[in-house]
Formats: sequence, C-alpha cells, structure tokens
Amino acid sequence: MGRITLENVTKRFGDVEVIPPLNLDIDDGEFVVFVGPSGCGKSTLLRLIAGLEDTSGGRILIDGQDATETPPAKRGLAMVFQSYALYPHMSVRKNIAFPMRMASVPQDEQDRRIEAAAKALNLTDYLDRKPGQLSGGQRQRVAIGRAIVREPSAFLFDEPLSNLDAALRVGMRLEISELHNRLKTTMVYVTHDQVEAMTMADKIVVLRAGHIEQVGSPMELYRAPKNLFVAGFIGSPK
Ligand code: ADP
Ligand code: MG
Repeated sequence: MGRITLENVTKRFGDVEVIPPLNLDIDDGEFVVFVGPSGCGKSTLLRLIAGLEDTSGGRILIDGQDATETPPAKRGLAMVFQSYALYPHMSVRKNIAFPMRMASVPQDEQDRRIEAAAKALNLTDYLDRKPGQLSGGQRQRVAIGRAIVREPSAFLFDEPLSNLDAALRVGMRLEISELHNRLKTTMVYVTHDQVEAMTMADKIVVLRAGHIEQVGSPMELYRAPKNLFVAGFIGSPK
C-alpha cells in the first residue's frame, strides 16, 4: 500500500504545458521530497497525484491500479496544506473527526482514531479548544491529525511548514520525520527549503520548469549533482 507511479503524466493550463511528460516511481513507505523554485510545478504535481487536478495525458497508478480517473476521496491519500484550512468554529476534536464523519466511520472507531492521533501529536489536552486558541505549530498538528485519522496509504504535504517561524519549523520537521518512522506510510512532501529536503527525504526529486532534473537520495545528490542547478538547490559545493 502506498506505491505511486506516474507514467508520462502531463499537465497543460490552456496552451501552457506546465508539466511535460513525466515519469516517477514512489515506493511504499518512502519519504519523497519535491524541491525546486517557485512556479516549477511542485504543487501541480502533488495536486495531480491527489486528484485535485485532472491530468492532460498519461497515467497515475496507485498500488499498481490505474487511478487516473479516480476521484480524490477514493484514492486513499490525504493531503496536508500549508494554510491551516481548519474550521475556526469547530473544536479540535471536531476538526480531526471531520473526514471520518464525511466517510461515515462509526462513532466508536472515530473516537479511537482521534485518541490515537491526539496522543501521537501531543494534542490530547487541546481536543476541546478551537483553532484560534492554539499556536501555529499546534494548528499544523491538528491539520496533520485530520490526515492521520483517514488512515491513508500516503500523505501528501504541500509546504506544510512555510507559515511557521524558523524555530518551530525545526521542531515540526522532526515531528513529521518521527511520524513517518512510526507509521511507515508513504509521504510525498513539497518544499522549496533545501534543509527540509536534505534532512527528511529518502529520495529527493529536483524539479525545474515541470520536468525532473535529477532524482536521488540526499547523499547521492550532494555528492554528484548533475549540474549547477541541482547543486544550487541542495547546497552542494559543486
Ligand atoms: P510551485 O508549487 O512549484 O510554486 P505550481 O505548481 O503552483 O508551482 O505552478 C506551476 C505553474 O503552473 C506556474 O507557472 C503557475 O503559474 C501555473 N499554474 C498553476 N495553477 C494554475 C492554474 N490553475 N491555472 C493556470 N496556471 C496555473
Ligand atoms: Mg506550490
């Protein structure tokens, strides 16, 4: 569960081809980071995987099954956005429960998953608060909790830490890495922050103008960046 394959996936907005034919394999349990400059297509690629954008060509396979036409809610993936996108009038508990209510998960099972997610994210004491009564880091944890309770086969993160200050970012980076170690669920993580990429990734995908410039482990890219563009992005001395 959690294997994602892109086969010649393309995306056009009008006449503009934002993603030329792109191929990528994401293994089950892998932590894959998409890096690249603003506007290079990171979010678009993530949204194509999530099903929030339609492909203009090619296929997306999830666990070997063609999911190109599968609606987002049926892909078994959970997206965590950078803006907290929480419901301000609902308690933390209700925010976390929301996707399960939509999916008609039985109440006792909802409670079990909420308790487990709250424990994993140190939110147990905050379940009855409203998002406005939480710190930025706690709000981001609620957003992650809302993804966890769906028990997805993969998490998709779009710059989840970019609204946090530097100190908080370091802590949340560690928390997400620990979560990955514990759950062993595939994570696809978009960032323009090379430190996040180098410290969190099993595999880094460097994007430039919608195409893959290089793929490799942080060490592989650091030691042997293909060109100056990649070197610049991962802080390599080349
Ligand atoms: P990134 O996340 O790497 O900053 P995006 O995926 O948001 O990049 O955008 C990639 C390119 O696609 C940009 O040139 C952007 O302007 C364009 N784009 C993204 N979404 C749309 C849209 N809905 N309509 C038209 N162009 C879009
Ligand atoms: Mg983006």
